Amino acid sequence: MKGIIFCISGPSGVGKGTIVKELMTADPELALSVSCTTRAPRPGEQHGVHYFFITHEEFRNKLSRGEFLEYDEHFGNYYGTLKDYVTALADQDKLVILEIDVVGAFKAKEYYGSTRRVVNIFIKPPSLEALEERLHRRGSESEEQLAQRRERVKFEYGQADKFDYIVLNDEVSRATAEILGIIQKEKKQAER
Ligand code: 5GP
Repeated sequence: MKGIIFCISGPSGVGKGTIVKELMTADPELALSVSCTTRAPRPGEQHGVHYFFITHEEFRNKLSRGEFLEYDEHFGNYYGTLKDYVTALADQDKLVILEIDVVGAFKAKEYYGSTRRVVNIFIKPPSLEALEERLHRRGSESEEQLAQRRERVKFEYGQADKFDYIVLNDEVSRATAEILGIIQKEKKQAER
């Protein structure tokens, strides 16, 4: 069997992080891609486990050497997915999980082309209104940041049809179970 790359994607605030955590707990066979970030570690976060915490200079160097499959800026910090990290896991026949935004998921599919199976899974909120409400409830952003996010969310929400699968996040445990089912189905297909 060849490794498969699963991009867990969807609009910001949809609950990707929570779902990915549940997936990793539920299935020890899954391997999570560890991204680079320039932000400081939060309490309890470990280098090489949650992120590779690097300086802006290191990030720029990696970027200029083409080491990132995709990257983005969030709140003044940079985040990037490492090509070699993901490819190495896939080469070990792992089922690789990427928690990634919509554009990043498209880039991953484009980058691997026909060399690797990249399965893009869109996590859909019950409604656009529910998502905006959730963004508000997080309360971590200013009005201006919220307005920017809202615009982005609308764009991201409109990309669902370009994904291999759409999973409704009506309830985290149900959505997680559905994704685990998709992963097993894809694995079986690859083994054939
Ligand atoms: P946090 O600082 O809360 O860990 O993450 C902030 C945002 O960065 C989240 O929306 C998270 O999904 C996103 N993020 C984390 N890693 C990457 C990455 O490798 N690439 C991109 N484009 N976004 C990332």
